[in-house]
Amino acid sequence: MKSYEHLYINGQWVAPIKGGTFESVDPSNEKVLAKVAAATSEDIDLAVKAARKAFDEGPWPRMSGAQRAVVLRRIGKGIRDRLQELAEVEVRDNGKPLPEALWDLGDAAGCFEFYAGLAEKLDENAETTIALSDDRFRSIARKEPIGVAGAIIPWNFPMLMAAWKVAPALAAGCTMVLKPSELTPLTALELADITTAADLPPGVLNVVTGLGKEAGAPLSEHPGIDKLAFTGSVPTGSRIMQAAARDIKNVSLELGGKSPFIVFDDSDIDAAVEWIMFGIFWNQGEVCSATSRVLVQRGIYDRLLQRLEEETRNITIGNGLEEGVLLGPLVSQGQYEKVLEAVVRGKEEGARLVTGGGRPSHLDKGYFMEPVVFADVPEDSWVWQEEIFGPVVCIRPFDDELEAVRSANDSRFGLAAAVMSRDTERCERVARALRAGIVWINCSQPTFTEAPWGGYKQSGIGRELGEWGLNNYLETKQITRYDSDKPW
Ligand code: NAD
Repeated sequence: MKSYEHLYINGQWVAPIKGGTFESVDPSNEKVLAKVAAATSEDIDLAVKAARKAFDEGPWPRMSGAQRAVVLRRIGKGIRDRLQELAEVEVRDNGKPLPEALWDLGDAAGCFEFYAGLAEKLDENAETTIALSDDRFRSIARKEPIGVAGAIIPWNFPMLMAAWKVAPALAAGCTMVLKPSELTPLTALELADITTAADLPPGVLNVVTGLGKEAGAPLSEHPGIDKLAFTGSVPTGSRIMQAAARDIKNVSLELGGKSPFIVFDDSDIDAAVEWIMFGIFWNQGEVCSATSRVLVQRGIYDRLLQRLEEETRNITIGNGLEEGVLLGPLVSQGQYEKVLEAVVRGKEEGARLVTGGGRPSHLDKGYFMEPVVFADVPEDSWVWQEEIFGPVVCIRPFDDELEAVRSANDSRFGLAAAVMSRDTERCERVARALRAGIVWINCSQPTFTEAPWGGYKQSGIGRELGEWGLNNYLETKQITRYDSDKPW
């Protein structure tokens, strides 16, 4: 395995000033995968200064959108050219099954290609004329890059989360300092290599690996940052917001969720079981939008649970690089222990454990867990209300639409929700009544680069992806000219 002991600052690979490293562990065998550079505030300062210089003096913000698009497309191609190799790195670092990693990497490349298109469009639509009530004046609204962005991302979709932030920021003409999660830092460093090969000017993207407190906090507190884009947990999001408040930094947050899935009793049970399983077991349930609370109408409750139990027991668990594996290990020992504790807590709270929670008998190393189905979960229990971030689905019955919507909305989160029924009108009605940023009808989880992504309530502030994602990195300037010979 190659060395990951350097930081990527100003287009150069540099050793961290204090020389520290941390270990990234392969969750399938608990072995150290790589030693990784541990940045501290001194390195963050260098990275922010490089990004500042590249923004204030460098070519990037001054290039046309079409010129930036050429580089963004090269980055997309750079990912595609190394898709298999990068996906394998992602599996070793995160644990996810290889087909899912390949899917993520393809989406990450697609994200750069999509924002290349929006960068080109910026050349035409950056300026709009405003109709004023006083015709002696001419006014335009003009979109400009917001400046230096700091991005802090989690470990569940390492390269994809990087792409969701880097691609729109670069398309907008911003420069960036990216800090990946200390649990999965490797593909962000590979992305740095890809941007060098794509001729991205030095300092436009800087990648600093390190721990939350030592590298993330100084980045969020740095006065040289104009915008903070964060994806991660609610407690860290709150800290980021406090840090941003000090200098009134623009901030966007993509936080946690406890997304509901309402299944009405006219649904096809097999299809419902399939989407429920995809909604919670995909990526080991380590998905912010996982539909982890399932409300099933009483008419099909028992039959659906029985099918779900059978199918869940059939899931192939193992090393993500092995063929046919559908569920890999959890990302780390810490996450494994958290999920195990949640399972114990659920049982104590009166939820009925239908299946799962144990270690698969054929795997004695690695953070593997049999996927969990809890039924009859009390509405006020911790497992029903709080994000577990693992392969644990909580299910309860409901009688009518009103009750389902009320229960679904009874949450401090509001990232996503899903509804299933053969009655299209009912689905559309319920979709509008759900207090969530993303609602899926007759499916769960499909995500499109073109469509807005983000949460209501404590699930976040702002939207990523699509044109909304680009706007995160743009300021709007008013330019007004007095255009009359008449005296004012
Ligand atoms: P986390 O909040 O622990 O860490 C996220 C990032 O923040 C990491 O890079 C970490 O190093 C950094 N960090 C930690 N402490 C910090 C501090 N004091 N200051 C600055 N940075 C700090 O979250 P996680 O465990 O990596 O990710 C899981 C969480 O992310 C879940 O709650 C999940 O729902 C959420 N998530 C949300 C989305 C979304 O789109 N809404 C997507 C993926 C994950």
